[in-house]
Amino acid sequence: MLCRVSLLFILSMMLTSTIAHAEENVDNDSLEILRFKQAEAISLVPWYYYAAINQYEANIHTENDEKKDNIHIQIPEKKWYGFLPEHKPTAPEILEWFNGIGKDGDGDGIADPNNESDVLYTIGSLLTKYGQSEQDIKKALWDFYQRELSVLSIMNYAKLFQKYKQISFEQNAFPVPKTYNYSYRNTWGDARGFGGRRIHEGTDIFAGYGTPVRSTTYGVVELKGWNKYGGWRIGIRDIHNRYHYYAHLNGFAEGIEVGDIVEAGQTIGSVGSTGYGPPGTSGKFPPHLHYGMYKDNGNTEWSFDPYPYLKRWEKSDL
Ligand SMILES: [Zn+2]
Repeated sequence: MLCRVSLLFILSMMLTSTIAHAEENVDNDSLEILRFKQAEAISLVPWYYYAAINQYEANIHTENDEKKDNIHIQIPEKKWYGFLPEHKPTAPEILEWFNGIGKDGDGDGIADPNNESDVLYTIGSLLTKYGQSEQDIKKALWDFYQRELSVLSIMNYAKLFQKYKQISFEQNAFPVPKTYNYSYRNTWGDARGFGGRRIHEGTDIFAGYGTPVRSTTYGVVELKGWNKYGGWRIGIRDIHNRYHYYAHLNGFAEGIEVGDIVEAGQTIGSVGSTGYGPPGTSGKFPPHLHYGMYKDNGNTEWSFDPYPYLKRWEKSDL
């Protein structure tokens, strides 16, 4: 115990001096990453897992979250305090006795769910309990969230953060190159014929066969293959819990697979007219890209109108 406290003290001194240094070229990304690296030094869980959990939690708590550059992880009271959430004991030993997961990270003898060091230390303990491998971390996340999409999203965010050593990805691209002929209008929510009473969950961008289709964001390929309605389609999730869906493709970019990282503007396939039938069905309608956007709030996922985004990206794309 004593040993950990002094280690924490040394690390926080290190962090303070690094922050003072970094302030010369203030970069929020690296400041935030430093905080996760401090957690890594204590737990040996790589920093990008902390960053990914924090990013995921920020996405699901956006409404009542004003603290932009702090820790967004909210551990439910039932988990933090265990069997006695109504008593809110603060001593970590008592919490443990009652099966609460709350830990004291800054060595003040109190396990406080609103203290960032305590929260990060608790998350670290939670993850290391299962081991250090990717599989172990997945298992720990599953036990904590009990939801496949939450685990998948966090693992994919971690992948992106690890690869680029950054946690902000604000770059976007229009899905077809502006040098090609294309046209689109706002048809989100329109009724459509095939497949019963479904509304049109996306924007159709009409373009010639073979026109490149590009990822609008940085993200990870979550799905690829055939669907009766969408034909050949690919789905990519970005770090804001948004799923980008590209359908009716002629084909996919060579070598692109589920789990791959893609960059904004990267070609992922080409425009076609596949769908509305068994695998390989094509030509039942004019070639176009169906582009849909979905948002996940940690419980459910819903479609929202991509048209305003397309307009913005079309303008800002070079
Ligand atoms: Zn469509």
